[in-house]
Amino acid sequence: MSNTALPREAELRTWASRGIEVEGDVLVTRMPRLHAVVASAEEPARARLSCWKDEQHRYIVDVNVLMTVELECQRCLSDCELELSTHSSLCLLWNEDSINDLPMGYDPCVVGDISDLHALVEEELLLALPAVPMHDVGSCENVSRAFGDSTIDVTEEKESPFAALGTLLKKPGAEDD
Ligand SMILES: [Zn+2]
Repeated sequence: MSNTALPREAELRTWASRGIEVEGDVLVTRMPRLHAVVASAEEPARARLSCWKDEQHRYIVDVNVLMTVELECQRCLSDCELELSTHSSLCLLWNEDSINDLPMGYDPCVVGDISDLHALVEEELLLALPAVPMHDVGSCENVSRAFGDSTIDVTEEKESPFAALGTLLKKPGAEDD
């Protein structure tokens, strides 16, 4: 358990040539796009990067990120806690030309000399976010009351006072005046 911050920038190809491994924290305030969509995050993300070169001399970065965030549950609208856990093997590319040549298991990562590691970690977390965050079934707050309200609405719809009005308007001869 170290509390060191992950460096902001790195020359990842150099790191891969040297087989460097780093581990560190990234505060949610350093990840503005993630910060905008989560309700809160008390603990920083914990990231581990292992940089290496494969037999084809590709530059690879294995990225593991762990972070607990609070998101708004789309069923009951209160916060629900979610643990995001990601694992990717990124293959560093200079441009998008060679994306289609990548073997299975690698994700493309188009970067120049310098990589923004905080943005890289943020990207991993954004991809791990659920499209529709929700509590586990039965764990929502106030959900029984919400269901009760909607049941009442459905039953009251049976007889409409406007039904009689509709037949009146349809009577022939009502338009010559
Ligand atoms: Zn809920």
